[in-house]
Amino acid sequence: MKTYPVVELLGDGIGAELAAAVRLLATSALPFAIEWRPFDLSVESRASRGEALYDEAAREIEKTAAALKYPTATVKESPNQVLRRRLGLQVIHRPVQTIPGIPTNFKADVDLDVVRIATGGTYDDPGQMIGTEAAVSLRVIEKEPCRQAAVFAFELARKTKKSVTSSSKHTIQRMTDGLFEAVVKEVSRDYPDVPHRVELFDALLAKIVLKPRNFQIVLVLNEYGDFLSDMACGLVGSLGIGASGNYGFDRERRVRVGLFDAAHGTAPDIAGQGRANPTAIFLAFALLLYHLGEVRAGSAVKNAALDLLREGESTPDVGGKLATTEFAEKVAGRTNRHILDPAWTSRTLQLQRDRPEK
Ligand code: NAD
Repeated sequence: MKTYPVVELLGDGIGAELAAAVRLLATSALPFAIEWRPFDLSVESRASRGEALYDEAAREIEKTAAALKYPTATVKESPNQVLRRRLGLQVIHRPVQTIPGIPTNFKADVDLDVVRIATGGTYDDPGQMIGTEAAVSLRVIEKEPCRQAAVFAFELARKTKKSVTSSSKHTIQRMTDGLFEAVVKEVSRDYPDVPHRVELFDALLAKIVLKPRNFQIVLVLNEYGDFLSDMACGLVGSLGIGASGNYGFDRERRVRVGLFDAAHGTAPDIAGQGRANPTAIFLAFALLLYHLGEVRAGSAVKNAALDLLREGESTPDVGGKLATTEFAEKVAGRTNRHILDPAWTSRTLQLQRDRPEK
């Protein structure tokens, strides 16, 4: 059987329940094997093993080129930030779409891909006080991560036949945001088949709320991406169901490593109770499967989880009655059906598309 080695970065709180759910899904529903290479990133393990743990994990991820990360409690350092630096993860891709069955205050359907430059901006510099009445921080924008993120966004657009909108405040932050837009424009010349437009970031937020369907892939600098991903998740009703791919690249700008994770935290209030919702980590796992080239299996996992949510088969946090394992078993069964019968998948997708516009 074809086997893919994947690093499993275990964490805290509900992490163990989520990992059991993913393993169940992978073992019972996929026509290939995942060979998990686990690393314990729990608070206790990080405290006792220190830097060596990150070194070993990063080395292994460079070998497997793929990792699934479970939520970790931020006590001293943020493991996400440490791994991002060690692996040179420069781009974060967060797909956000309306999930039928998840209650939301927002009426229109959303289907956005936020592509965010994972480094730089003000986030690399906490700043410093100037005397006691003022503080300053440095905002650094570098060409290379901008170029890398732009190539990623345009490649994604070409593959999925979508458009790219780049957004910033280039009319005010003329040097920094201006540099970003100049690099994006340069890259866009290599993709004449991909529609590209530029929007000012404040106007973009209003336009997405007014007409979300006008936007597909949105390419932004670090801070804007942070705000936009969470706003988009809010529009679809849940921060808890977001998942991201974090990518590092080689010299030819091809993806070298991918680290995939859920947006939510360790949910200590429900840990160990069998109530954790594995949807976000399943969507992260689906992104990982795309990264491995197993596009059909990735779509099957995603569609299976979304089918069940639409049918009201879910965990208590989104109004259902299922325990984590029960939901995982149902998703596994449905994934199998999607993989075995693609005609059934396209019928299901058609039904989703035919939903009347709200
Ligand atoms: P949280 O996301 O853990 O929890 C917020 C609320 O959402 C809680 O009521 C929780 O029960 C619920 N929730 C979250 N995920 C859920 C799931 N999968 N199923 C059902 N309910 C879920 O946020 P928090 O309480 O602010 O943070 C708790 C810890 O998580 C902190 O230590 C924080 O540092 C860490 N954290 C880690 C990551 C990460 O590793 N990527 C991200 C965010 C927070």
